[in-house]
Amino acid sequence: MHHFNYHHDQLYCEDVAVSEIADKVGTPFYLYSHATLKRHFQAFDAAFDGIDRLICYSAKANTNQAVLKLFAASGCGLDIVSGGELYRGLQAGYPARRIVYSGVGKKVDEIDYALQAGILMFNVESVAELELINQRAAVLKKRAPVALRVNPDVDARTHPYISTGLKKNKFGIASQNALSGYAMADALEHVDVVGMACHIGSQITEARPFEDALGNLKALVTELQHKGINIRYLDMGGGLGITYENETPPPLTEYAGSIIEQLKEMPLRLIVEPGRVLVGNAGILVTRVLYLKQGDIKNFVVVDAGMNDLMRPTLYNAYHAIEPVAAGAKELIVADVVGPICESGDFLAIDRSIPLVESGDLLAVMSAGAYGYVMSSNYCSRPRVAEVMVKGGDFHVVKRREGYEDLIRGESLPQFLQK
Ligand SMILES: *Cc1c(COP(=O)(O)O)cnc(C)c1O
Repeated sequence: MHHFNYHHDQLYCEDVAVSEIADKVGTPFYLYSHATLKRHFQAFDAAFDGIDRLICYSAKANTNQAVLKLFAASGCGLDIVSGGELYRGLQAGYPARRIVYSGVGKKVDEIDYALQAGILMFNVESVAELELINQRAAVLKKRAPVALRVNPDVDARTHPYISTGLKKNKFGIASQNALSGYAMADALEHVDVVGMACHIGSQITEARPFEDALGNLKALVTELQHKGINIRYLDMGGGLGITYENETPPPLTEYAGSIIEQLKEMPLRLIVEPGRVLVGNAGILVTRVLYLKQGDIKNFVVVDAGMNDLMRPTLYNAYHAIEPVAAGAKELIVADVVGPICESGDFLAIDRSIPLVESGDLLAVMSAGAYGYVMSSNYCSRPRVAEVMVKGGDFHVVKRREGYEDLIRGESLPQFLQK
């Protein structure tokens, strides 16, 4: 469900014609729908009605301040993976008590920052990290609330790059080491054991892996209870998939229903960390056709957005639907939609059937709200694109397009090169 629809063959975001925004802000740009974001959060949260819960939006999917602020204002918490995301979250108004901190490589300064801010909990991914957090808490005269991120060893059956809950993955603590990890944490002087966490992967399109993971975690929580260690927060992570092409992820009611069913007897507060499912279909990338090019064996549509602007196609071989902003062309062509970058991996689509376009036409790369702008880079000295949010009949540039001066900001010449 989203608010990108055609009226009289023109693509609209809510009540604004996408072409009107392109005329005013130039291309390429990311475009987010306020109504879609809001609705996605409300629907996700409501699916867990009847159970004590905190939804912590996973910031890394889209960290624009406007997006963060919108969720914060709806009562959402935040899942962060870096000091930078903590900064962004606090700036956007998330109370520290609604922030959980995951990630395998937390650094001293990041741990200190989170301890000073007073976050809800650290999702700890190794024994070594646990020891460091305990040390830093001692130095800062704080107590560190922790959950161990347990690796439930379930196969999320998603792309290997975004599967995180297998024994061979770098994430979390193996479930057979969880009990000893908890015993150790419990004995540490400056650490409070408050939770258990997992996150099994991303773009998961079945309910089963979540059910299996929860089953494993529940058994561990019960075992810990017998040992006198009481877990208050059970963090199920994120990972629910969306429809890019023809995937059929379980509906929210089914996903949430099975979690509620398994947890209703447990005296726990549930935490869930949705990222993609909240923002993915709430954003598109708008790009303009530069050239049509007929190769020997292929047609190419060269557009002004490249892999540096949207990395998912080349990184994960991900599919993004590509729609014309002005519909109506009857003739179809099969083409590679490619960017201006000097890499053969610079594509948005391969062998795609799209309506015949010409130079100057606008294309919408759909479902680009998650892991889009946040993964963009300045490769080939391409300034980062603008981000725009629509609400009703209004639109706002929520991140200005970078200029050339931004490209060299922060660089300096050593003495021996100055003359
Ligand atoms: C990335 C991530 C998420 C969000 O994943 P989605 O697939 O976008 O829902 C949640 N928790 C952790 C720990 C993550 O690393």
